[in-house]
Amino acid sequence: MDLVLHNGTILTMTDKSAKAVAVRSGRIKTLEKVPAAKEIDLEGRTLIPGFIDCHTHFVSMGMKLANVDLSDARDLQEAVSRLEKRATETEKHKWVLGYSWDESMWPERRWLSPEDLAGIENPVCARRVDGHVAVLNLAGQKALNRKEGYLFEEELFRLNETKAEQDTEKAFRTALALAHKEGVTSIHDNPMDIGTFLLYQKMRCEELRISVNLPVSVLDAVNQIKLRTGFGNEWLRVGGIKIFTDGSIGAKTAALSFSYRNEDNKGLLVYSNEELASILQKAHPNQTVVHAIGDRAIEQVIACSVPGKESRNRIEHAELVRDDQIPRIKEKGLLLSMQPNFFQWSHPGGLYDDRFGTGMDNRMRTLREAKIPIVFGSDCMPFSPLYGIEQAVRAPFEEQRLTVMEALAMYTREGAYASFEEDIKGTIEEGKVADFVVLSDDPREADISSIHVEMTIVGGKVVYP
Ligand SMILES: [Zn+2]
Repeated sequence: MDLVLHNGTILTMTDKSAKAVAVRSGRIKTLEKVPAAKEIDLEGRTLIPGFIDCHTHFVSMGMKLANVDLSDARDLQEAVSRLEKRATETEKHKWVLGYSWDESMWPERRWLSPEDLAGIENPVCARRVDGHVAVLNLAGQKALNRKEGYLFEEELFRLNETKAEQDTEKAFRTALALAHKEGVTSIHDNPMDIGTFLLYQKMRCEELRISVNLPVSVLDAVNQIKLRTGFGNEWLRVGGIKIFTDGSIGAKTAALSFSYRNEDNKGLLVYSNEELASILQKAHPNQTVVHAIGDRAIEQVIACSVPGKESRNRIEHAELVRDDQIPRIKEKGLLLSMQPNFFQWSHPGGLYDDRFGTGMDNRMRTLREAKIPIVFGSDCMPFSPLYGIEQAVRAPFEEQRLTVMEALAMYTREGAYASFEEDIKGTIEEGKVADFVVLSDDPREADISSIHVEMTIVGGKVVYP
């Protein structure tokens, strides 16, 4: 045997208990304490299956970490100062890239504007936290040959493809280190371009299992070569076809059946019903992974989806599900890929309140009770399963809160189901991959906010610390 872990609490995420876990050739061999080349004494700590983050933008996150992270700027001025500071350290013709500003957390409560960045000589492009809108300063507008100070949706995604000059490999490694620190051993990634898939293939990384959702822009090519969900191996595989049907609440582009507060605006749908139905039909039998946030977008996805549980078709985010939509989501056999992290915006006075005039939670408890399969992902806002689990347990409105074990299942066992990999991962059972996280304490007993990741193991190999 290569490795044995013992002397701790083991949460197998099945109804079986275990005293130890023994590993050979990257797989769980037995749940007994047997002699092994390497022994890890858990010293009373808790072993769980590796986290599966079902919604990431992994390389973009690495880029953010390598550029200017604005996510924790306390006010608008601090965001501007950080960009100015980076500009002073950057050659004048080079871009200064900012990521993840969030005006809903600032006292100013307004977007960064081109005027705010007028003092910076370098071209600047700073993205909002949702990735659906970015502000450009004058130099940035000139560099891109445009007159408008903001980039939205498609225009912004296209910009991603032109950043080949950036060091994407470095971004990947930066993101990988964070994944290991956070206990993430599998991701379902959503790159905006096919180049990221090729990068993963080139890296041949065997320290993270990646399921890649391919952008709908390559659907014709996918069909031509009959590429199918599940192609690949346990490290890198084809996920579903990623389709956007609306924008985001922050950018006021999520499609609603009602108006945003104080505005004659209900957000926007990317496609007509006919267009979406034809795309989903064309993507079948591949799994479809459809971004839908507002209730109007969710309505459209329900109406246009090809029915059938076997496809495990997904709605990503599903933030504003209405009561009347719940039975129809079930009927179509849809699976919801949600972000407990978004509870950070649902409290009174938060982003949802600002946009809709009322605080509200994503309806996880309601949906779970209706027996709709839910899986969890971070959307890299921030990239941390423990943060998300804490949010789910402590949601601002009590009626949508989950128990810690429910939340943990959505970040492990359920996540494996979303990528058709429940036979190889998601629980601690004989025959499954040896991906584990060692937590400082048992989440069933200790205060979740005090628990941290102490060790991460992928394929039987310790990758963190
Ligand atoms: Zn996303």
